[in-house]
Amino acid sequence: MITINEHYLKLQASYLFSDIAKRVAAFQAENPSQSVIKLGIGDVTRALPGACIEAFHKAVDEMAKDVSFRGYGPEQGYAFLREAIAANDYRARGADISADEIFVSDGAKCDTGNIQELFSGDIKIAIPDPVYPVYLDTNVMAGRTGNFKDGRYEGLIYLDSTKENNFVPALPAGDVDLIYLCFPNNPTGSTISKEALKTWVDYARDHKALILFDAAYEAFIQDDSLPKSIFEIEGAREVAIEFRSYSKTAGFTGTRCAFTVVPKECAAFDAKGNRHFIHPLWNRRHCTKFNGVSYPVQRAAEAIYSEEGKAQTRELISYYMQNAEMVCRGIKELGFDYVGGQNSPYVWIDGKRDSWEFFDILLNKAGVVCTPGAGFGRCGNGYIRISAFNSHENVAAAMQRIRQVLA
Ligand SMILES: *Cc1c(COP(=O)(O)O)cnc(C)c1O
Repeated sequence: MITINEHYLKLQASYLFSDIAKRVAAFQAENPSQSVIKLGIGDVTRALPGACIEAFHKAVDEMAKDVSFRGYGPEQGYAFLREAIAANDYRARGADISADEIFVSDGAKCDTGNIQELFSGDIKIAIPDPVYPVYLDTNVMAGRTGNFKDGRYEGLIYLDSTKENNFVPALPAGDVDLIYLCFPNNPTGSTISKEALKTWVDYARDHKALILFDAAYEAFIQDDSLPKSIFEIEGAREVAIEFRSYSKTAGFTGTRCAFTVVPKECAAFDAKGNRHFIHPLWNRRHCTKFNGVSYPVQRAAEAIYSEEGKAQTRELISYYMQNAEMVCRGIKELGFDYVGGQNSPYVWIDGKRDSWEFFDILLNKAGVVCTPGAGFGRCGNGYIRISAFNSHENVAAAMQRIRQVLA
């Protein structure tokens, strides 16, 4: 008899985006002439940078001739891309990372979801609330939690991100083995200072713990005093793995390219307390279960680091940041408290009422779609997330409508 992994039965159906879609469809059916502006889902809206498109085309043409055709590439990614990453994303900022510590992949979602299989089933895990659901659900699937009760899984340590702690959670009170952090944060848009991140690195070193640092939004950091990488923090190489993605940086959500950084010194322990380096284990997993990102996509990603590529990505980010600024200005004028929007494409707003109630007001009265914060965890109750991923025109129109409804 074929039996299933019963841990899957503990998973809470994710109704968030389907619920939103249902409510939007109902509204549109009743108001066919009213346009709906979507500032909900975290997907980019603008085209790939020209430098990427050019490199992409050129690489496709190489695939058309036997002499320049490429079959399987290195699973970890081509040297041209890994070297560009090490030089530009790390060494240029004083972070000591070498090309062979970088694993190119087809997404930070997959990498943040897959990494947990390197660790034993009985570790103690700390997960932020509100949270990007991938960290949570992949550990539920692996059987590292109990059942879902009163809005939370048993057996996990939740790191509350609230107004009181400025949406940067406090260190866990006791022992924790694996810690997920994401800054700039999705969904709150909050950032962490170097000093605060150092306290997490020190905690991990003191507790023989490991930090999984999701830096998918580092490109949105405008304040140069903020860390873009956890490897800018002293002592992090032994206790941290970093995830990055070109999805939000350069509009690659549909093109797919990301990478994970596993420093050579980074280690975990066996039951007897012996240290084992994670790099060879992740390399083994990656080569066994993944066969590399396509050559044209890696060439397109490499082009992000050319002079034009850098200028074009800066322009892309700055376009979205102007939207974020528009959202922040409007929300502030209306007297709401918010966080994010300064070094992040997300604005996290205290709606002073139930998340779904606020969502319904914005949809039904203003024709604007946001994301109810309650969908990201218990601490998201009462909040909504507005995303800057849209055109200037749409964001300006959305804020105008919101002003009319809420002023
Ligand atoms: C968008 C996003 C990613 C990137 O995922 P990809 O699979 O690379 O597209 C990773 N982490 C967070 C928190 C995100 O919001």
